[in-house]
Amino acid sequence: MSTDVSKPKAPKNKSELAEQVFQAIVEGGDNGIFQTELCKSFSIDSRDGSRLVGNLEKQSLISREKILYKGRWTYKLIVKKIPHLKDEDKKPIEIDSVEGAPCFSCSYQHLCSTEDETSQYSPSKCVWIEQWVVSDSQKRGSDEIK
Ligand code: SF4
Repeated sequence: MSTDVSKPKAPKNKSELAEQVFQAIVEGGDNGIFQTELCKSFSIDSRDGSRLVGNLEKQSLISREKILYKGRWTYKLIVKKIPHLKDEDKKPIEIDSVEGAPCFSCSYQHLCSTEDETSQYSPSKCVWIEQWVVSDSQKRGSDEIK
């Protein structure tokens, strides 16, 4: 498991911070990274760090596993792989594929859940996600034509 998280450049806002944190977790690969190291590297307190990675977990982008590290409880953070694929086709989610996603700056992130079907905020019902997916795929389509 990686304990070294590269020193990130200072994020301009919460959305950029979330993207950088997610990227650091992606770079941790299959072994994951420790939440305490991540917080240290980004100079964020444990409460803010926990909230931030909790939101990534709620969006099913990462998984968290409680683990004892240097005598203290923390979490091992691992990027989620796409399920329902054969093992040889399973790859970590790439940062490019979530770049500009509205979830990183969403004010309703704390209410959004893939599991709570009663929640009014969920990726499956979200118009912002839909708009982003459509505009992103149009952009990728026009890039491929060039
Ligand atoms: S409400 Fe939509 S944009 Fe906001 S976190 Fe949920 S899925 Fe993302």
